[in-house]
Amino acid sequence: MSENLPPVNLLQRDARSVWHPYTQHQGAAPFLPVQSASGPWIYTEDGRPYLDMISSWWVNIHGHGSRFLADAIHAQCLALDHVQFAGITHEPAVQLAEKLIARAAMGDCRVFYSDNGSTAVEVALKIAHQYWVNRNEKRPLILALEGGYHGDTVGAMSLGRSSGFFNAFEDLFFEVHAIPVPETWHDHIPADAEEKILTRLEAWLKEKGASVSALIVEPLVQGAAGMRFHSHGFLEKLCSLVRSYGILVVFDEVMTGFYRLGTFFALQQTAILPDLLCLSKGITGGILPLGATLAQSWIFEGFLGETFQTALAHGHSFTGNPICCAAALASLTLLEDPEFPVRLNAIHRALERNVLSLKVSPRSTRHRCLGTVAAFDLASTSARYGDFSGRPLAHFARENGVLIRPIGNVVYVLPPYCVTSAQIDSAFDVIRAWLASPEDAFPAYTPPSC
Ligand SMILES: *Cc1c(COP(=O)(O)O)cnc(C)c1O
Repeated sequence: MSENLPPVNLLQRDARSVWHPYTQHQGAAPFLPVQSASGPWIYTEDGRPYLDMISSWWVNIHGHGSRFLADAIHAQCLALDHVQFAGITHEPAVQLAEKLIARAAMGDCRVFYSDNGSTAVEVALKIAHQYWVNRNEKRPLILALEGGYHGDTVGAMSLGRSSGFFNAFEDLFFEVHAIPVPETWHDHIPADAEEKILTRLEAWLKEKGASVSALIVEPLVQGAAGMRFHSHGFLEKLCSLVRSYGILVVFDEVMTGFYRLGTFFALQQTAILPDLLCLSKGITGGILPLGATLAQSWIFEGFLGETFQTALAHGHSFTGNPICCAAALASLTLLEDPEFPVRLNAIHRALERNVLSLKVSPRSTRHRCLGTVAAFDLASTSARYGDFSGRPLAHFARENGVLIRPIGNVVYVLPPYCVTSAQIDSAFDVIRAWLASPEDAFPAYTPPSC
């Protein structure tokens, strides 16, 4: 009988109907029943405020509830909501392509639109592979950085297979050679390790280099690997080494783009102009899904031919959706605000000051900050995703109105650009309080899913 009664609240209805991402549902703590959001704040049904210190999974760069973005979307919905992008073009898609090409400053490029970060990567992967097929060269191998994350579709998972997230899918993967990452943090650049890795790679390339189509990297910061930083010197040497074998360089800036690392794109902090660039996440201000893959014009020209055989067989129902493009254009306008660099700089300084202040705690190590990403590791714990050592802190922070989501033992803060220095200070006050509490302060703790 009771089974037929309607469920009473949102959590109960959720528990009967929804499958959440990256969640072990068995034993999961109750989800946060969110009702609304404004600026850096997320509000639950009972009106409790939470500071969104990870920009809602790294996407929501301006904060929530922007009237400017909402108005742009509304106007575009009424003017032209959707139309397929094969055989048709429209102003929002063309204008956005022009602006992305100008901001990337990679030279003449073409923009291929898709729906999210994973598909932006799939497109880059297919372009890189077919570029060589069209030239009648066999280059089946791909190079990637160890622990790199490029998305959850099958090709993107293959690229990120060394991350260990995707062991269940091993049988589906193609061959990817993973290059170890010499990690840097505050005042620490492992020059010897960098040299060793490059020397070993050079030996490998002598044998296999002519069979590799592309190298894909998250430039300067590997996100899901645990906000792992590497030096621009290493990245530059790596890229020029692989290029000497004709290998294409793909930058996955899905996380690092749109000022996340302090410059418009991370590539601007390096001496490298990649051949392909993957964008998503913050591209629309983080309120609608959109992916974009930039390809150098000479790559695009490699797909021209007399038949469809050499064309790129890729496209999605929503490729070039005008509403998503209009949101992205409005977001770019917000980023052009003359006050914006001042705000960005203030966020960086507050993050850096706060994360370095944690050095006094022996429970924290590898403090690091670049642009608007601050991170540290919890000391003396084994790393990576299956490690839940960051979860008691996430739970404590949530109890204190701060949303963070550590990756294993890596704690990071990646706020929206509307955040104030005082809000950053208050989030770190919560982290400092937890680090200062006795290690056994939370003995009977069950890991939450957050
Ligand atoms: C999040 C992310 C992706 C995947 O993007 P989705 O939109 O989640 O598919 C790819 N690459 C990097 C570097 C990312 O951080």
